[in-house]
Amino acid sequence: MSNPWQRALEQLEKAATIVELDPDLTARLEKPDAIVETEFGVQMDSGEEKKFRGYRVQHNNILGAYKGGLRYHPAVDLDEAKALAFWMTMKCALVGVPFGGGKGGIEVDPKKLSEAELERLTRAFTKELALHIGPEKDVPAPDVNTNSKIMHWIYDEYSKLVGRATPMVVTGKPIEIGGSEGRTEATGLGGAYALFAILEKLGKERKGMTVAIQGIGNVGSFLAQYLEEAGMKVVALSDSKGGAYDANGLGVAAALAYKKETGTLAGFAQDISSHEILTLPVDVLVPAALENTITDKNAASIVAKIILEMANGPTTLEADAILDGKGVTIIPDILANAGGVIVSYFEWLQNKSNQKWRKDEVFHELKTKMESAAEKVFFTSRAKHISMRDAAYVVALRNIQDRMAV
Ligand code: NAD
Repeated sequence: MSNPWQRALEQLEKAATIVELDPDLTARLEKPDAIVETEFGVQMDSGEEKKFRGYRVQHNNILGAYKGGLRYHPAVDLDEAKALAFWMTMKCALVGVPFGGGKGGIEVDPKKLSEAELERLTRAFTKELALHIGPEKDVPAPDVNTNSKIMHWIYDEYSKLVGRATPMVVTGKPIEIGGSEGRTEATGLGGAYALFAILEKLGKERKGMTVAIQGIGNVGSFLAQYLEEAGMKVVALSDSKGGAYDANGLGVAAALAYKKETGTLAGFAQDISSHEILTLPVDVLVPAALENTITDKNAASIVAKIILEMANGPTTLEADAILDGKGVTIIPDILANAGGVIVSYFEWLQNKSNQKWRKDEVFHELKTKMESAAEKVFFTSRAKHISMRDAAYVVALRNIQDRMAV
C-alpha cells in the first residue's frame, strides 16, 4: 500500500489492538486535530506572481505542542503530510519528548527557485501559518529540502508579525540565532546510536559490517560518517541522480567531497542506480531518502538482514510482510530517525531557559534517549513476539494513554 496515510491508519489499528487502546483515543488518533491548507502568491524574480500550495497538518497535541518538519518538494500532498504528522506524534511519544505531531510543506521544486524567490516563498508561507504556529502551539523544523536558513527566515518573519523576537517558534535554526549545537548531525547520529544499541542486543559485532545508504542529504551523509567512524564499511551511497558502489568501502569523506565538487556521485566508483542500491549484498540497508522506496516490487530481492529506516515511511505494508517472512530485522523509522526531534526539543528547551549546551552535552543526552527508546522497543518486541515496528507503536501508544490517564 503506497498511500502513507492509509498505511499509518493500519499501523495504528494494529498497535491499538495489541495495547487494547481506549476506543475514544484510537478515534482521536485516526484523524488529525487540524489541517491548514493554503494557496498563496509569491513574486518571482521576473516580476510575475506565481501561486503555490502549502499545508500544515496538526495531528495530535496530547503530549505537547505540535512538532514536525516542513518539506519543500513537488510531490508534497495532504495524505503524505497527514501520515508524516501522525508519525511525529508516535515518534515523540516513543522517545519521551513532550511534543505532539505536526508536518507541513509546500508543493514546489526549490531547486528551480533563486535564493531570493525561496526567501519570499518562505516568508509568504510563514504569514499564512502565523496564526497556527507558535512556541507552545506548533513548532516547525527542517525536513526534505529545508534547512537552518529557511528556519531563520520563518523565525524572523514570525517575530515581525507578533512584534517580539520568538526563537522558540522553530527549531533547526542557525546556532548564532538560538539553534542547538549538534542539531544538524542529530538525526544521522541518533540513527547510529539506535543501530548500535540494537546490534548489541542482537549480539552482533558492528565492526566490518557492510552498509548501503540510499539518500545522502542531511540524514544519510552524517549517518554514513558516523557508521564509518565506528568501523562499519560503507560500500554504497546514492542520491536522486544515482549512486556509487565499491565492495571494499567507498571512503565516505572522499565520496561526499566528490559529490560536493561535481554535484553527483557518478564516476566516483562503480555507478549504480538509486534502485540497485536497495538490493546490494550488504549487512545493513539504510533508506534515507523518501517514502515508499521498499515495496512489494523489490522487497523479495533485498539481501540485507538489517534495515535501518532513516527516511520516514520508506517501507510499504506489503514489503514489510515480505521482509518479515525473510527474517529481516527492521529498525523502524519512528525509532531510527527520532534523533532530529530529540535535539529539536533540546534546542527549544535551551531557548526557553536561555541556556547553551555544549555539543558533547547534546550528544550525551541524545545517546541516552535513543538507547533507552531502542531498549524499550527491543524488549517489547521480544516479550510480545511482535516486530520492532509494532513494538515501537505499542510503546508510543502506551505513553499517550498513560498521559490521558493523569
Ligand atoms: P535532504 O533533502 O537533506 O536529503 C534527501 C536525500 O535524498 C538527497 O540526497 C536526495 O538526493 C535523496 N533523494 C531524493 N529522492 C531520491 C530518490 N528517488 N532516490 C534516491 N535518493 C533520493 O533530506 P533529509 O533531511 O536528509 O531527509 C531524508 C529523510 O529523512 C526524509 O524521509 C525525512 O523525512 C527524514 N527525516 C529527516 C530528519 C531531519 O532531521 N532532517 C528527521 C527525521 C526524518
